[in-house]
Amino acid sequence: MEQTTRRTFMMQVAAGSSVLVASSAMAQAAAPKLDDKDPQAVALAYIADTTKVDAKKFPKHTAAQRCDNCQLYTGKAKEPMGPCTLFAGKQVAAAGWCSAYVKKAG
Ligand code: SF4
Repeated sequence: MEQTTRRTFMMQVAAGSSVLVASSAMAQAAAPKLDDKDPQAVALAYIADTTKVDAKKFPKHTAAQRCDNCQLYTGKAKEPMGPCTLFAGKQVAAAGWCSAYVKKAG
């Protein structure tokens, strides 16, 4: 009797943990894409496509400047989107850009 209760408890704990792991993985995968119209994005002139940056407003910008080679980008290489330390809880486009761009060292 005791054995059964213990086994049932252990199975419930195991099931509970896998639900937690699955939901945290989902929460990470579901981080919303940063909208170009988000007030903070607007303030930093964020754009999801670096080739569309206004050259008159940002004469020092080049198409080689992309989020995925910016120091503040923490996404994985070759992923289309990833987190940026400036926009917590959102994902920026790997091919994006904003006026806070800092070339990744190395
Ligand atoms: Fe992209 Fe860098 Fe601007 Fe973040 S700080 S949005 S990674 S250019």
